Amino acid sequence: MAKIGINLSTGSLQQEEIIVGIDLGTTNSLVAIIHPESKKPVALREHNSSSLVPSVIYFDQYDNVVVGEEAKKHLITEPYNTIFSAKRLMGKSYNDIETHSDFFAYKIIDDNTDRLVKVQAGTKFYSPIELSSFILKELKQRAEHILKTPVNKAVITVPAYFNDAQRQATRDAGKLAGLDVLRIVNEPTAASLAYGLGLNKEEEKTIAVYDLGGGTFDVSVLKISNGIFEVISTNGDTYLGGDDMDNAIVTFWIRKYEISPEILKEDRMLAQSFRLKAEEAKKTLSSTDNYVSELRGMELTLTKDELNSLIQSLVDKTIECCILALKDADLSVTDIDEIVMVGGSTRVPLVKDSVSKFFGKQVHTEVNPDEVVALGAAIQADILAGNNRDVLLLDITPLSLGLETMGGLMDVLIPRNSKIPTKAARQYTTQKDGQAGMRISVYQGERDLVKDNRKLAEFNLTGIPGMPAGIPKVEISFLINADGILVVTAKELRSGIQQSIEVKPQYGLTDEEVEKMLTDSIANAKQDMIARAVTEAKTEGEQLIQTTENFISKNKNFLTSAEIESTQNAINALQQVLNGTDKDLIHTHIEQLNEISRPYAERLMDSAIAMAMKGKQV
Ligand code: ADP
Ligand code: MG
Repeated sequence: MAKIGINLSTGSLQQEEIIVGIDLGTTNSLVAIIHPESKKPVALREHNSSSLVPSVIYFDQYDNVVVGEEAKKHLITEPYNTIFSAKRLMGKSYNDIETHSDFFAYKIIDDNTDRLVKVQAGTKFYSPIELSSFILKELKQRAEHILKTPVNKAVITVPAYFNDAQRQATRDAGKLAGLDVLRIVNEPTAASLAYGLGLNKEEEKTIAVYDLGGGTFDVSVLKISNGIFEVISTNGDTYLGGDDMDNAIVTFWIRKYEISPEILKEDRMLAQSFRLKAEEAKKTLSSTDNYVSELRGMELTLTKDELNSLIQSLVDKTIECCILALKDADLSVTDIDEIVMVGGSTRVPLVKDSVSKFFGKQVHTEVNPDEVVALGAAIQADILAGNNRDVLLLDITPLSLGLETMGGLMDVLIPRNSKIPTKAARQYTTQKDGQAGMRISVYQGERDLVKDNRKLAEFNLTGIPGMPAGIPKVEISFLINADGILVVTAKELRSGIQQSIEVKPQYGLTDEEVEKMLTDSIANAKQDMIARAVTEAKTEGEQLIQTTENFISKNKNFLTSAEIESTQNAINALQQVLNGTDKDLIHTHIEQLNEISRPYAERLMDSAIAMAMKGKQV
């Protein structure tokens, strides 16, 4: 049944509830919708103003919240109360950002009791989720004001490298802002959609999305086939962007005009003005060759050639990342069919030219690069509203997901680079007679031993009815939904009892950590294999000891004392070598214990069968 709403401000009837697309950016955020008449995506703006809302939050002395252009004015003059780049803090612990703590001019709380970071502004403390929700609230209000209708549903974009925690945090921020977040979409996927890529089902294409924003750079390689988007690789630098260009210009001017850095430290207004002029100069030089301006009676100039030499190394770094992304995807430049340019900083001619030269192709810049992600999000929103059913969006898991099994081994259920949504299930059983509970520990990583991987969650399946060891059938299933959130379910199939949790890790991994986990797993592959073999041998030995001891205590009356003694000796000998790490020695002793128990085990088995047969005949 279609819902019909009444727009209270205009009194008109509305057929469908609107779903907006939101680009929640590190530097700028914006909202887009599919225009009801033209059916084309458009970014929302008030009259002649920009569609971009700076992702800056200012708290005044009464803790009032101001977001956007107004807040940006306080960035340098009131650094403690003006929060920028809140997106960088999403799903992060203090440890995650410690090495970059100089970057943040405001106060980040290092609180041991709370693993996720908090920010202090004015007299209050805010979580990154709350901070992002202030931006989203502002966007929601703007959209409602422009559209003259309530806005309650949204699709929000995130970088392709965002992990579960960061995606979940983004979703929570939306909820806090009063938005029902229908889908979290990858930014490069949204950008491709805005170019119409992937909307035609027959199309098969490999796309590189180059995104240079205000403070971050990333490049993603996507494959589209049958209307399915797959992120094959991503690379980048989370501390590289247009802000670095601005800083380089300020430094250049300070040297050129012989201004002491001390003066800028004291005169924050002057520092602020320099930053703003630098950004203005950079933007001007995207369309002309010379910049001339004035600041406190000083003539400021910058030529395009000067700018180019200031930013050359920055641009080179981004090309390095492109090389790595292609390498990870196992592709060469000639395999890339389309290059999509995203982010305000791709307007810089040197950036455009360098990327185009690297790929040996014209790059896409037709769609406004700082709106393209939001426009794509609006298209995705339209697809979700049921207007374009053929398209499906898929992503991949960056690291393997699995469970801890006997001896601390990692049992992978979903291997790294699996397409999501995805699911996998495997059956396990108990190790002890009458075991009523089972501890389920979920890990992420590539190493063979869970202690080398990262624990995501842990829970207990309780209430398993009493059964002998090995009889219960516990099925554990992993489901990663389209937003990249993992749900783990454990179910004992004979009794039907079950338990499930949504995995929301306490804090996220940085790109460097993911990278490190991968390189570690390669570097340690051989060592891990040996460790795994030893652990498996030990587990086998321990289980054999237990079953043999059970057998003996149940069948004492049918065994000779010599049999019991030699068995006990073999058990002791095996027990001894289980403390060591020689897997061959463990296997030898396992074999010896088996040799000793086999004859009487068979004898008793035969007589048990004979008894059963006899019983039948009566
Ligand atoms: P983010 O995705 O990080 O939120 P954006 O895509 O909005 O960022 O990009 C913001 C950056 O783009 C800023 O550094 C800004 O100075 C830069 N930028 C915007 N317009 C231009 C332009 N015409 N020329 C050069 N840089 C620009
Ligand atoms: Mg962006």
